[in-house]
Amino acid sequence: MEAIAYERAANVADAVRSAQTAGVAFIGGGTNLLDLMKGGVARPVKLVDITHLSDDGLDAVRTRPDGGIRIGALVRNSDAADHPLVRERYPLLTQALVAGASAQLRNMATVGGNLMQRTRCPYFYDAAFAACNKRTPGSGCAAQDGYQRMHAILGASAQCIAVNPSDMSVALAALDATIEVVGPAGARRIPIGEFHRLPGDRPDVDTVLQPGELITSVDLPPWSTSLAEHTYYLKIRDRASYAFALVSVAAALQMQGEKIAGVRLALGGVAHKPWRAAIAEGLLTGQPLTDAKLREAAAAQLRDARPLPGNRFKVLLAERAIVRALNIAAGRESIGVTGATA
Ligand code: SF4
Repeated sequence: MEAIAYERAANVADAVRSAQTAGVAFIGGGTNLLDLMKGGVARPVKLVDITHLSDDGLDAVRTRPDGGIRIGALVRNSDAADHPLVRERYPLLTQALVAGASAQLRNMATVGGNLMQRTRCPYFYDAAFAACNKRTPGSGCAAQDGYQRMHAILGASAQCIAVNPSDMSVALAALDATIEVVGPAGARRIPIGEFHRLPGDRPDVDTVLQPGELITSVDLPPWSTSLAEHTYYLKIRDRASYAFALVSVAAALQMQGEKIAGVRLALGGVAHKPWRAAIAEGLLTGQPLTDAKLREAAAAQLRDARPLPGNRFKVLLAERAIVRALNIAAGRESIGVTGATA
């Protein structure tokens, strides 16, 4: 048994101060960290407990002067999904949150923790497999010649083909969220598209957070009412509930009659980070909403996909998921059983 030091932080400044040595981890809901610790994948020498903190609005959802909202990092996933400001102005985020995990886990997991959750690649969690560059840098990657069904088709590297498992982060990518963090050097703001890393040759590093930095909030910019009227989070998975996405799509449309005046699109389950579908957005903006246009944009978005033998099906699946999510967002297609949430 390994000894782990424990400190209960008095406030944000105290938490940051307590995390200035190597091997320290913040613990909030703990829904992923405790699993990692039980499996010996994470071995922090000290836990800094931030669960109870409420300074700086850490546990609140508030409006911002620019008309957007700020979600504190310690707001529970279930509370964020159910908050009136989120439900009314950013229904895409509510849809993504309720598609994730189970009700019990959503009641424990925090928004900050959701951003930090690690891949569910089975080789990463099972120490019986020696080869995992994410767990043990330089050891290899068991998935390269193994089980690949849940793995990446975009942005992967020879060192790692894992995907980011968060549904919430996919919606945040479509919403252009900004992550605010506080660390030894002060506060800084990170656009969601820059927060998670591609694996490259350092798959053990998931985000751009520096040692000792703590996520304090997620800011959502103002969104037009018309975008909020046409949103859908489509999650395709092997089970109807409590399963991670094979492919997911966060879609929002701003319609002018039959024309697409604006579109926001992000993909999950396909890469080491939420994947903003900028190519498809560019091809669809200003165009009439037709199945042909949607299919053309989806195919263009997946043109750079580099699937492996075990996940080749995900390219066509992602294309079809984009078309379906946009059609549902536009009200041209019903949700049906595949749209059932957890
Ligand atoms: Fe490890 Fe990444 Fe390879 Fe999975 S895909 S075994 S997480 S290196």
